[in-house]
Amino acid sequence: MLKIMAVNAGSSSLKFKLFQMPGEEVITEGIVERIGAEDAYYTIVVNGDKIKKVLPVKNHSVAVRLLLDDLVEREIVRDLSEINGVGHRIVQGGSYFPDSVLIDEDVIAKIDELAAIAPLHNHAHLIGIKAFIEALPEVPNVAVFDTSFHQTMNEETYMYAIPFEWYEKYKIRKYGAHGTSHKYVAMKAAEIVGRPIEELKIVTCHLGNGASIAAVKGGKCVDTSMGLTPLEGIPMGTRSGNIDPAIVGFISEAENLTASEIVEILNKKSGYLGVSGVSNDSRDLEACMAENKRCKLALDIQTKRIADYIGSYYVLLEGIDIIVFTAGIGENSSRCRRDVLKRLKVLGVEIDEEANTRQREIVEITTKNSKIRAFVIPTNEELMIARDTVRIAGLCAK
Ligand code: ADP
Repeated sequence: MLKIMAVNAGSSSLKFKLFQMPGEEVITEGIVERIGAEDAYYTIVVNGDKIKKVLPVKNHSVAVRLLLDDLVEREIVRDLSEINGVGHRIVQGGSYFPDSVLIDEDVIAKIDELAAIAPLHNHAHLIGIKAFIEALPEVPNVAVFDTSFHQTMNEETYMYAIPFEWYEKYKIRKYGAHGTSHKYVAMKAAEIVGRPIEELKIVTCHLGNGASIAAVKGGKCVDTSMGLTPLEGIPMGTRSGNIDPAIVGFISEAENLTASEIVEILNKKSGYLGVSGVSNDSRDLEACMAENKRCKLALDIQTKRIADYIGSYYVLLEGIDIIVFTAGIGENSSRCRRDVLKRLKVLGVEIDEEANTRQREIVEITTKNSKIRAFVIPTNEELMIARDTVRIAGLCAK
Protein backbone atom coordinates (compact mmCIF):
# COMPACT_ATOMS: atom_id res chain seq x y z
CA MET A 1 0.00 0.00 0.00
CA LEU A 2 1.13 3.55 -0.76
CA LYS A 3 0.91 6.67 1.38
CA ILE A 4 0.59 9.82 -0.68
CA MET A 5 0.50 13.38 0.62
CA ALA A 6 -1.56 15.95 -1.32
CA VAL A 7 -0.44 19.49 -0.54
CA ASN A 8 -1.89 22.92 -1.22
CA ALA A 9 0.53 25.64 -0.12
CA GLY A 10 -0.79 29.21 0.03
CA SER A 11 1.09 32.36 0.97
CA SER A 12 0.45 31.84 4.69
CA SER A 13 -1.11 28.39 4.84
CA LEU A 14 -0.36 24.77 4.09
CA LYS A 15 -3.24 22.35 3.60
CA PHE A 16 -2.52 18.63 3.51
CA LYS A 17 -4.33 15.33 3.06
CA LEU A 18 -2.63 11.97 3.45
CA PHE A 19 -4.12 9.18 1.32
CA GLN A 20 -3.76 5.43 1.33
CA MET A 21 -3.52 4.42 -2.31
CA PRO A 22 -4.72 2.76 -4.42
CA GLY A 23 -7.67 2.36 -2.01
CA GLU A 24 -8.12 6.17 -1.94
CA GLU A 25 -8.84 6.29 1.80
CA VAL A 26 -8.02 9.48 3.69
CA ILE A 27 -5.64 8.66 6.56
CA THR A 28 -5.50 12.17 7.95
CA GLU A 29 -5.84 15.79 6.88
CA GLY A 30 -5.25 19.22 8.25
CA ILE A 31 -3.92 22.71 7.80
CA VAL A 32 -1.27 25.07 9.13
CA GLU A 33 -2.60 28.63 9.00
CA ARG A 34 -1.09 32.06 9.66
CA ILE A 35 2.41 30.80 8.80
CA GLY A 36 4.89 33.50 9.83
CA ALA A 37 2.96 34.43 12.99
CA GLU A 38 3.82 33.76 16.63
CA ASP A 39 0.29 32.44 17.07
CA ALA A 40 -0.15 30.27 13.97
CA TYR A 41 -2.81 27.53 13.96
CA TYR A 42 -2.12 23.88 13.35
CA THR A 43 -5.15 21.64 12.86
CA ILE A 44 -5.06 17.90 12.22
CA VAL A 45 -7.92 15.42 12.01
CA VAL A 46 -7.18 12.16 13.84
CA ASN A 47 -9.81 9.42 13.89
CA GLY A 48 -12.49 11.97 13.07
CA ASP A 49 -11.43 14.37 15.86
CA LYS A 50 -10.15 17.83 15.00
CA ILE A 51 -7.11 18.69 17.10
CA LYS A 52 -6.07 22.33 17.09
CA LYS A 53 -2.88 23.92 18.45
CA VAL A 54 -1.76 27.54 18.54
CA LEU A 55 2.02 27.90 18.23
CA PRO A 56 4.70 29.95 16.48
CA VAL A 57 5.43 28.80 12.90
CA LYS A 58 8.20 30.89 11.35
CA ASN A 59 7.94 29.73 7.74
CA HIS A 60 6.77 26.93 5.43
CA SER A 61 9.80 24.73 6.22
CA VAL A 62 8.87 24.87 9.90
CA ALA A 63 5.24 24.08 8.99
CA VAL A 64 6.28 21.00 6.96
CA ARG A 65 8.60 19.79 9.73
CA LEU A 66 5.86 20.31 12.33
CA LEU A 67 3.39 18.30 10.31
CA LEU A 68 5.79 15.45 9.48
CA ASP A 69 7.03 15.13 13.08
CA ASP A 70 3.45 15.11 14.29
CA LEU A 71 2.55 12.27 11.89
CA VAL A 72 5.34 10.16 13.42
CA GLU A 73 4.55 11.20 16.99
CA ARG A 74 0.89 10.25 16.60
CA GLU A 75 1.98 6.99 14.94
CA ILE A 76 0.00 7.85 11.81
CA VAL A 77 3.18 6.77 10.01
CA ARG A 78 5.86 4.61 11.64
CA ASP A 79 8.59 6.71 10.06
CA LEU A 80 8.78 9.19 7.23
CA SER A 81 10.03 6.60 4.75
CA GLU A 82 6.42 5.35 4.67
CA ILE A 83 5.46 8.43 2.64
CA ASN A 84 5.87 7.37 -0.99
CA GLY A 85 5.05 10.58 -2.84
CA VAL A 86 3.98 14.19 -2.44
CA GLY A 87 1.61 15.91 -4.88
CA HIS A 88 1.46 19.70 -5.01
CA ARG A 89 -1.41 21.82 -6.29
CA ILE A 90 -0.05 24.54 -8.57
CA VAL A 91 -2.36 27.32 -9.75
CA GLN A 92 -0.51 28.46 -12.87
CA GLY A 93 1.27 26.09 -15.26
CA GLY A 94 0.96 28.35 -18.31
CA SER A 95 1.26 26.60 -21.66
CA TYR A 96 4.10 24.40 -20.43
CA PHE A 97 2.13 21.70 -18.67
CA PRO A 98 -0.78 19.91 -20.36
CA ASP A 99 -0.46 17.22 -17.67
CA SER A 100 0.95 16.81 -14.17
CA VAL A 101 4.75 16.35 -13.98
CA LEU A 102 7.50 15.03 -11.78
CA ILE A 103 9.16 18.05 -10.18
CA ASP A 104 12.80 18.70 -11.10
CA GLU A 105 14.95 21.82 -11.42
CA ASP A 106 13.47 22.71 -14.80
CA VAL A 107 9.87 22.43 -13.54
CA ILE A 108 10.75 24.59 -10.53
CA ALA A 109 12.26 27.21 -12.87
CA LYS A 110 9.11 27.26 -15.02
CA ILE A 111 6.76 27.57 -12.02
CA ASP A 112 8.96 30.45 -10.87
CA GLU A 113 8.86 32.10 -14.31
CA LEU A 114 5.04 31.79 -14.34
CA ALA A 115 4.81 33.61 -11.01
CA ALA A 116 4.83 36.73 -13.21
CA ILE A 117 1.17 35.97 -14.03
CA ALA A 118 0.21 34.35 -10.69
CA PRO A 119 2.42 36.09 -8.13
CA LEU A 120 0.43 35.25 -4.99
CA HIS A 121 0.00 31.58 -5.78
CA ASN A 122 3.07 30.28 -7.60
CA HIS A 123 5.59 31.76 -5.15
CA ALA A 124 3.77 30.15 -2.24
CA HIS A 125 3.63 26.80 -4.06
CA LEU A 126 7.39 26.93 -4.64
CA ILE A 127 8.06 27.56 -0.97
CA GLY A 128 5.89 24.49 -0.19
CA ILE A 129 7.71 22.34 -2.77
CA LYS A 130 11.14 23.34 -1.47
CA ALA A 131 10.10 22.66 2.12
CA PHE A 132 9.01 19.10 1.22
CA ILE A 133 12.15 18.42 -0.86
CA GLU A 134 14.23 19.52 2.12
CA ALA A 135 12.27 17.39 4.59
CA LEU A 136 11.87 14.29 2.37
CA PRO A 137 14.77 14.36 -0.13
CA GLU A 138 14.23 10.79 -1.36
CA VAL A 139 10.52 11.14 -2.13
CA PRO A 140 9.16 12.04 -5.60
CA ASN A 141 7.27 15.35 -5.77
CA VAL A 142 4.63 15.82 -8.45
CA ALA A 143 3.14 19.12 -9.63
CA VAL A 144 -0.59 19.08 -10.47
CA PHE A 145 -1.63 22.24 -12.27
CA ASP A 146 -5.03 23.98 -12.11
CA THR A 147 -4.43 24.97 -15.73
CA SER A 148 -3.59 21.57 -17.29
CA PHE A 149 -7.16 20.47 -17.96
CA HIS A 150 -7.79 23.71 -19.89
CA GLN A 151 -4.82 23.27 -22.22
CA THR A 152 -7.11 21.61 -24.78
CA MET A 153 -8.89 24.92 -25.51
CA ASN A 154 -8.30 26.04 -29.09
CA GLU A 155 -6.63 29.23 -30.19
CA GLU A 156 -9.81 31.17 -30.98
CA THR A 157 -10.96 30.43 -27.43
CA TYR A 158 -7.83 31.18 -25.46
CA MET A 159 -6.65 34.24 -27.38
CA TYR A 160 -7.83 37.72 -26.43
CA ALA A 161 -8.56 40.30 -29.12
CA ILE A 162 -5.72 42.54 -27.98
CA PRO A 163 -2.41 43.47 -29.66
CA PHE A 164 -0.78 40.20 -30.68
CA GLU A 165 2.59 41.39 -29.33
CA TRP A 166 1.18 41.17 -25.78
CA TYR A 167 0.75 37.45 -26.32
CA GLU A 168 4.21 37.09 -27.88
CA LYS A 169 6.00 39.17 -25.28
CA TYR A 170 4.06 38.37 -22.11
CA LYS A 171 2.06 35.19 -22.93
CA ILE A 172 -1.20 37.04 -22.25
CA ARG A 173 -3.96 34.52 -23.00
CA LYS A 174 -6.71 32.58 -21.24
CA TYR A 175 -5.39 29.77 -19.04
CA GLY A 176 -8.37 29.07 -16.76
CA ALA A 177 -8.29 27.64 -13.25
CA HIS A 178 -9.89 24.97 -11.01
CA GLY A 179 -8.99 22.47 -13.79
CA THR A 180 -8.43 19.60 -11.36
CA SER A 181 -11.91 20.09 -9.95
CA HIS A 182 -13.62 20.46 -13.34
CA LYS A 183 -11.93 17.28 -14.56
CA TYR A 184 -12.82 15.32 -11.44
CA VAL A 185 -16.53 16.17 -11.45
CA ALA A 186 -16.84 15.71 -15.23
CA MET A 187 -15.35 12.21 -14.93
CA LYS A 188 -17.57 11.45 -11.96
CA ALA A 189 -20.67 12.65 -13.85
CA ALA A 190 -19.90 10.27 -16.73
CA GLU A 191 -19.46 7.44 -14.23
CA ILE A 192 -22.81 8.29 -12.56
CA VAL A 193 -24.80 8.28 -15.80
CA GLY A 194 -22.96 5.13 -16.92
CA ARG A 195 -21.81 6.50 -20.27
CA PRO A 196 -18.32 6.95 -21.73
CA ILE A 197 -17.15 10.53 -21.21
CA GLU A 198 -16.10 10.61 -24.90
CA GLU A 199 -19.81 10.73 -25.82
CA LEU A 200 -20.84 13.46 -23.39
CA LYS A 201 -21.24 17.24 -23.40
CA ILE A 202 -20.86 18.46 -19.83
CA VAL A 203 -20.87 21.90 -18.21
CA THR A 204 -19.17 21.94 -14.82
CA CYS A 205 -19.88 24.80 -12.39
CA HIS A 206 -17.25 25.09 -9.67
CA LEU A 207 -18.90 27.63 -7.37
CA GLY A 208 -16.86 28.37 -4.26
CA ASN A 209 -15.40 31.60 -2.97
CA GLY A 210 -13.56 31.52 -6.28
CA ALA A 211 -15.85 30.30 -9.04
CA SER A 212 -15.50 29.14 -12.63
CA ILE A 213 -17.42 27.25 -15.27
CA ALA A 214 -16.07 24.85 -17.89
CA ALA A 215 -17.44 23.36 -21.10
CA VAL A 216 -16.27 19.76 -21.48
CA LYS A 217 -16.75 17.89 -24.75
CA GLY A 218 -15.77 14.23 -24.95
CA GLY A 219 -13.82 14.60 -21.70
CA LYS A 220 -11.77 17.56 -22.96
CA CYS A 221 -12.14 21.18 -21.87
CA VAL A 222 -13.17 23.40 -24.78
CA ASP A 223 -13.79 26.62 -22.84
CA THR A 224 -13.73 27.98 -19.32
CA SER A 225 -14.74 31.22 -17.67
CA MET A 226 -11.52 32.19 -15.88
CA GLY A 227 -8.81 33.84 -17.95
CA LEU A 228 -5.20 34.91 -17.63
CA THR A 229 -5.96 35.13 -13.92
CA PRO A 230 -8.88 34.00 -11.73
CA LEU A 231 -10.43 37.47 -12.01
CA GLU A 232 -12.24 36.79 -15.28
CA GLY A 233 -15.62 35.13 -15.56
CA ILE A 234 -18.58 35.19 -13.20
CA PRO A 235 -18.69 37.43 -10.09
CA MET A 236 -17.40 35.64 -6.96
CA GLY A 237 -17.07 36.19 -3.20
CA THR A 238 -14.74 39.17 -3.58
CA ARG A 239 -13.91 39.17 -7.32
CA SER A 240 -15.80 41.19 -9.90
CA GLY A 241 -15.62 38.71 -12.78
CA ASN A 242 -15.97 40.33 -16.24
CA ILE A 243 -16.26 44.10 -16.38
CA ASP A 244 -15.78 46.73 -19.04
CA PRO A 245 -11.98 47.25 -18.91
CA ALA A 246 -12.52 50.99 -19.43
CA ILE A 247 -13.80 51.12 -15.82
CA VAL A 248 -10.17 50.77 -14.70
CA GLY A 249 -9.16 53.95 -16.56
CA PHE A 250 -12.23 55.83 -15.36
CA ILE A 251 -11.80 54.96 -11.67
CA SER A 252 -8.07 55.56 -11.87
CA GLU A 253 -8.75 59.20 -12.77
CA ALA A 254 -11.83 59.69 -10.62
CA GLU A 255 -10.33 58.22 -7.43
CA ASN A 256 -6.66 58.85 -8.14
CA LEU A 257 -5.75 55.18 -7.88
CA THR A 258 -3.11 53.17 -9.77
CA ALA A 259 -4.06 50.28 -12.03
CA SER A 260 -2.71 47.76 -9.55
CA GLU A 261 -4.68 49.32 -6.70
CA ILE A 262 -7.84 49.00 -8.78
CA VAL A 263 -7.08 45.40 -9.74
CA GLU A 264 -6.63 44.68 -6.03
CA ILE A 265 -10.11 46.12 -5.37
CA LEU A 266 -11.55 44.06 -8.24
CA ASN A 267 -9.97 40.97 -6.68
CA LYS A 268 -10.59 41.57 -3.00
CA LYS A 269 -13.42 44.05 -2.53
CA SER A 270 -15.83 43.33 -5.33
CA GLY A 271 -18.23 40.47 -6.13
CA TYR A 272 -20.65 39.58 -3.32
CA LEU A 273 -18.74 41.79 -0.89
CA GLY A 274 -18.59 44.83 -3.15
CA VAL A 275 -22.22 44.79 -4.24
CA SER A 276 -23.78 43.87 -0.88
CA GLY A 277 -21.39 45.81 1.35
CA VAL A 278 -22.17 43.04 3.85
CA SER A 279 -20.14 39.89 3.24
CA ASN A 280 -18.24 37.69 0.78
CA ASP A 281 -20.00 34.62 2.14
CA SER A 282 -23.09 33.38 0.33
CA ARG A 283 -24.60 32.12 3.60
CA ASP A 284 -24.62 35.66 5.02
CA LEU A 285 -26.21 37.06 1.86
CA GLU A 286 -28.85 34.33 1.75
CA ALA A 287 -29.68 35.03 5.40
CA CYS A 288 -30.44 38.70 4.73
CA MET A 289 -31.59 38.69 1.08
CA ALA A 290 -35.28 39.03 2.04
CA GLU A 291 -34.80 42.40 3.75
CA ASN A 292 -31.58 43.68 2.15
CA LYS A 293 -31.93 44.51 -1.55
CA ARG A 294 -28.20 44.75 -2.17
CA CYS A 295 -27.64 41.25 -0.75
CA LYS A 296 -30.27 39.90 -3.13
CA LEU A 297 -28.79 41.88 -6.02
CA ALA A 298 -25.28 40.48 -5.37
CA LEU A 299 -26.67 36.94 -5.58
CA ASP A 300 -28.85 37.71 -8.62
CA ILE A 301 -26.00 39.25 -10.63
CA GLN A 302 -24.06 36.05 -10.09
CA THR A 303 -26.84 33.61 -11.01
CA LYS A 304 -27.63 35.62 -14.13
CA ARG A 305 -24.00 35.46 -15.23
CA ILE A 306 -23.76 31.73 -14.49
CA ALA A 307 -26.83 31.13 -16.66
CA ASP A 308 -25.32 33.36 -19.38
CA TYR A 309 -22.19 31.20 -19.46
CA ILE A 310 -24.17 27.98 -19.56
CA GLY A 311 -26.26 29.41 -22.42
CA SER A 312 -23.17 30.30 -24.42
CA TYR A 313 -21.64 26.88 -23.76
CA TYR A 314 -24.87 25.28 -24.99
CA VAL A 315 -24.18 26.93 -28.33
CA LEU A 316 -20.48 26.07 -28.28
CA LEU A 317 -21.06 22.41 -27.38
CA GLU A 318 -24.12 22.15 -29.67
CA GLY A 319 -26.17 20.94 -26.75
CA ILE A 320 -25.55 19.90 -23.15
CA ASP A 321 -26.13 16.46 -21.62
CA ILE A 322 -25.17 17.22 -18.04
CA ILE A 323 -24.68 20.25 -15.78
CA VAL A 324 -22.69 19.69 -12.60
CA PHE A 325 -22.68 21.91 -9.51
CA THR A 326 -19.72 21.63 -7.16
CA ALA A 327 -17.61 23.42 -4.46
CA GLY A 328 -18.90 25.32 -1.40
CA ILE A 329 -21.84 27.10 -3.02
CA GLY A 330 -22.52 24.54 -5.76
CA GLU A 331 -22.66 21.71 -3.23
CA ASN A 332 -24.56 23.52 -0.48
CA SER A 333 -26.73 26.30 -1.82
CA SER A 334 -30.06 24.98 -3.10
CA ARG A 335 -31.03 28.63 -3.69
CA CYS A 336 -28.16 29.17 -6.13
CA ARG A 337 -28.84 25.94 -8.05
CA ARG A 338 -32.57 26.65 -8.28
CA ASP A 339 -32.03 30.21 -9.49
CA VAL A 340 -29.57 29.09 -12.15
CA LEU A 341 -31.64 26.15 -13.41
CA LYS A 342 -34.84 28.22 -13.56
CA ARG A 343 -33.10 30.62 -15.90
CA LEU A 344 -32.35 27.67 -18.19
CA LYS A 345 -36.00 26.71 -18.69
CA VAL A 346 -35.81 27.68 -22.36
CA LEU A 347 -33.25 24.90 -22.87
CA GLY A 348 -35.74 22.36 -21.54
CA VAL A 349 -34.25 22.20 -18.04
CA GLU A 350 -36.77 21.08 -15.43
CA ILE A 351 -35.65 21.25 -11.84
CA ASP A 352 -36.71 18.66 -9.26
CA GLU A 353 -37.41 21.03 -6.35
CA GLU A 354 -37.54 18.30 -3.73
CA ALA A 355 -34.30 16.62 -4.84
CA ASN A 356 -32.59 20.02 -4.98
CA THR A 357 -33.10 20.53 -1.25
CA ARG A 358 -32.04 17.00 -0.30
CA GLN A 359 -28.80 16.91 1.69
CA ARG A 360 -26.94 14.01 0.13
CA GLU A 361 -23.48 13.67 -1.29
CA ILE A 362 -24.42 13.12 -4.93
CA VAL A 363 -27.91 14.11 -6.06
CA GLU A 364 -29.64 14.42 -9.42
CA ILE A 365 -31.64 17.64 -9.20
CA THR A 366 -33.60 17.59 -12.47
CA THR A 367 -36.75 15.63 -13.30
CA LYS A 368 -37.03 12.65 -15.64
CA ASN A 369 -38.49 14.96 -18.32
CA SER A 370 -35.64 17.45 -18.20
CA LYS A 371 -33.73 17.74 -21.49
CA ILE A 372 -30.50 18.33 -19.56
CA ARG A 373 -29.64 16.36 -16.43
CA ALA A 374 -28.16 18.31 -13.51
CA PHE A 375 -26.23 16.87 -10.59
CA VAL A 376 -24.63 18.00 -7.37
CA ILE A 377 -21.24 16.28 -7.15
CA PRO A 378 -18.80 17.11 -4.33
CA THR A 379 -15.40 17.94 -5.76
CA ASN A 380 -12.22 16.21 -4.61
CA GLU A 381 -9.14 18.00 -5.89
CA GLU A 382 -6.89 16.36 -3.31
CA LEU A 383 -7.84 12.89 -4.51
CA MET A 384 -7.00 13.89 -8.09
CA ILE A 385 -3.62 15.14 -6.85
CA ALA A 386 -2.99 11.83 -5.06
CA ARG A 387 -4.03 9.82 -8.15
CA ASP A 388 -1.75 11.90 -10.40
CA THR A 389 1.14 11.54 -7.97
CA VAL A 390 0.87 7.76 -8.16
CA ARG A 391 0.52 7.81 -11.97
CA ILE A 392 3.24 10.36 -12.78
CA ALA A 393 5.79 9.09 -10.26
CA GLY A 394 5.11 5.54 -11.53
CA LEU A 395 4.47 4.25 -8.02
CA CYS A 396 3.28 0.68 -7.47
CA ALA A 397 1.79 -0.66 -4.27
CA LYS A 398 3.89 -3.45 -2.80
P1 ADP B 1 -12.85 28.23 -1.76
O1 ADP B 1 -12.28 26.82 -1.72
O2 ADP B 1 -12.86 28.85 -3.12
O3 ADP B 1 -12.34 29.14 -0.70
P2 ADP B 1 -15.35 26.92 -1.03
O4 ADP B 1 -15.48 25.95 -2.13
O5 ADP B 1 -15.03 26.44 0.33
O6 ADP B 1 -14.38 28.13 -1.43
O7 ADP B 1 -16.73 27.73 -0.95
C1 ADP B 1 -16.92 28.80 -0.08
C2 ADP B 1 -18.33 29.35 -0.32
O8 ADP B 1 -19.27 28.29 -0.09
C3 ADP B 1 -18.70 30.49 0.61
O9 ADP B 1 -19.30 31.54 -0.12
C4 ADP B 1 -19.74 29.84 1.51
O10 ADP B 1 -20.69 30.75 1.92
C5 ADP B 1 -20.37 28.82 0.60
N1 ADP B 1 -21.13 27.84 1.38
C6 ADP B 1 -20.65 26.88 2.19
N2 ADP B 1 -21.68 26.23 2.79
C7 ADP B 1 -22.83 26.81 2.35
C8 ADP B 1 -24.23 26.61 2.58
N3 ADP B 1 -24.65 25.65 3.41
N4 ADP B 1 -25.11 27.40 1.93
C9 ADP B 1 -24.70 28.36 1.10
N5 ADP B 1 -23.41 28.60 0.83
C10 ADP B 1 -22.48 27.83 1.45
